Amino acid sequence: MLPIFYDPHHVRHDPAGLHTYDPRNAAYYVEVARRGELIHHALQAAGLGPIQPPQDWGMAPLAAVHTPALLELLATAYQQLAREAGAPRPVIPETYQVNPAGVRRPRTIFGRLGQHCFDIASPIFAHTWDVAYWSAQVALSAAAAVQAGQPWAYALCRPPGHHATADMYGGFCYLNNAAIAAQWLAGQGRRVAILDVDYHHGNGTQAIFYTRPGIFFCSIHADPLDEYPYYWGYADERGAGPGLGTTLNLPLPLGCDEAGYWPALQTACAAIAAFAADVLVISLGVDTFVGDPAGGFRLHTGSYGRMAREIAALKLPALIIQEGGYRLDALGENVAAFLSALCGG
Ligand SMILES: [Zn+2]
Repeated sequence: MLPIFYDPHHVRHDPAGLHTYDPRNAAYYVEVARRGELIHHALQAAGLGPIQPPQDWGMAPLAAVHTPALLELLATAYQQLAREAGAPRPVIPETYQVNPAGVRRPRTIFGRLGQHCFDIASPIFAHTWDVAYWSAQVALSAAAAVQAGQPWAYALCRPPGHHATADMYGGFCYLNNAAIAAQWLAGQGRRVAILDVDYHHGNGTQAIFYTRPGIFFCSIHADPLDEYPYYWGYADERGAGPGLGTTLNLPLPLGCDEAGYWPALQTACAAIAAFAADVLVISLGVDTFVGDPAGGFRLHTGSYGRMAREIAALKLPALIIQEGGYRLDALGENVAAFLSALCGG
């Protein structure tokens, strides 16, 4: 049995129809609603479950990770732009504050967006706040299942979360689902390790726990010299202050295949064991799959089963949170392969 949490209303946040400047001449808004539906269908087809809706754990667990300013902006940006522009439209920043954050708080929506968003990949639509809120509740519901004694639980989160920091959104992410769940578990007295296997570095999760000694963050990802998010995810970022040594980054070269990936995963698992975690939060991105439109690694469907068995050997209860994965013809199958192997031992 694998408790799976899923909110079908996620489809109300769907950048698929949005046309905008496309800096790479590729499908830029790849984080589309169909992703969640494809994963859901694949899990049903694989007989995994039970699949259930999330409970509402309220705002407190979100506020334990994110700043009031970010939460307020996400909840009100769409209406504020509609008022200022005279008509509703998707909210995308036009200016970014690059000088050190000061005390001034611009009154206009574009002034405020530039203080809390770091890219153009994360449009806010009429229902984005609501969908992001319930994505976080999906993660919390899975965390509660693990806390109640389940060996595993899977959170089919959409939108994803690992690029969102305490005070900024971006990279398709609005609320950091993995960090919210990890923080909640830590609040229950658990010693939490986070393993982020998304193709991209989980800069938001790293930043949230960077100075915290009690939560270990480990990420395996594409070398940020070549890949988003560019400015974070280097091997010499190891935490700071009381958190020094509780961040471990394992960047890998573009084109990395299973043979290149495996030593990094084994290093990660050894570090998690050495930290003596008693619960694991896995940020599962399958954009490491060969041919992913947002990725550059060369893993295959069988790699995800192997990955799950390696992680299961840690013998830790684990909460799996969905992050990226954009090759739609293989997305559901890859997630199901990981989860089936985890449950099957
Ligand atoms: Zn990713």
